[in-house]
Amino acid sequence: MNDTDRTYDVVVIGAGPVGENVAERTRAAGLSTVIVERELLGGECSYWACEPSKALLRPVLGRADALRVPGLRRAVDRPLDVAAVLAHRDDIVQHWRDDDQVEWLESVSVDLVRGHGRLDGPRQVVVSTPDGGTVRLSTRHDIAGVAGAFQYAKGYRGKARTLVDTDCGTVAGVTFVGPGVAELLHSATITVTSEVPIERLWHAVPAFPTISEVWLRLLESYRG
Ligand SMILES: Cc1cc2nc3c(=O)[nH]c(=O)nc-3n(C[C@H](O)[C@H](O)[C@H](O)COP(=O)(O)OP(=O)(O)OC[C@H]3O[C@@H](n4cnc5c(N)ncnc54)[C@H](O)[C@@H]3O)c2cc1C
Repeated sequence: MNDTDRTYDVVVIGAGPVGENVAERTRAAGLSTVIVERELLGGECSYWACEPSKALLRPVLGRADALRVPGLRRAVDRPLDVAAVLAHRDDIVQHWRDDDQVEWLESVSVDLVRGHGRLDGPRQVVVSTPDGGTVRLSTRHDIAGVAGAFQYAKGYRGKARTLVDTDCGTVAGVTFVGPGVAELLHSATITVTSEVPIERLWHAVPAFPTISEVWLRLLESYRG
């Protein structure tokens, strides 16, 4: 059992792709940063989603393509070697070990606390560690103001939320949950990566009753 208190400029809960990026950037900006992770550094993408799914799909798609190519069909006419495909998947996900990611985190001077983190008041995070202990983390900074909106169309049960960089007046991140959200991902990606100013976004969102109305609700909510 241990019970320690530490103070950082920034505490990031979750070491998925997003958390790792945030931590690397805040550290690069000179802010002391700690990541809290309850499972594996790298998150869903590295171990359960993007990477293993591509490792499993590639041989299936490659074989299907080859079967359609004249002259190749007989070469790939036998069933896939399932054991080899699964072994390749296991290699790709590094056998569900995150040693490389830990090494990377150290190389960018971001601290790591393993365990389940929860907010415990303004700028306070409490982490329950695997050994049954508790680590209390305090932060010195809020990164940005947050605006949120829910229930944007009749009968729709999805949720959306934006993270706005109030200094720059741009959207730093967006979360969409619910049916049909794939339609929103492209515009969200462009908005975030191109750092589109909020004021310009107002004019870019079509005002008709489609799923894209969620953007209007978010902007209205942000403006208050
Ligand atoms: C089958 C599949 C295939 C995909 N393929 C692709 C692809 O090819 N390309 C692509 O761009 N995207 C793909 N995605 C989507 C991609 O996996 C996600 O967009 C991405 O992982 C989201 O990153 P994240 O950091 O937001 O969350 P996550 O990757 O989910 O990471 C969140 C992390 O936070 C930790 N955590 C959560 N709560 C706490 C807490 N309270 N305390 C401590 N730790 C906590 C979790 O353990 C986890 O490690 C795929 C998804 C799936 C399901």
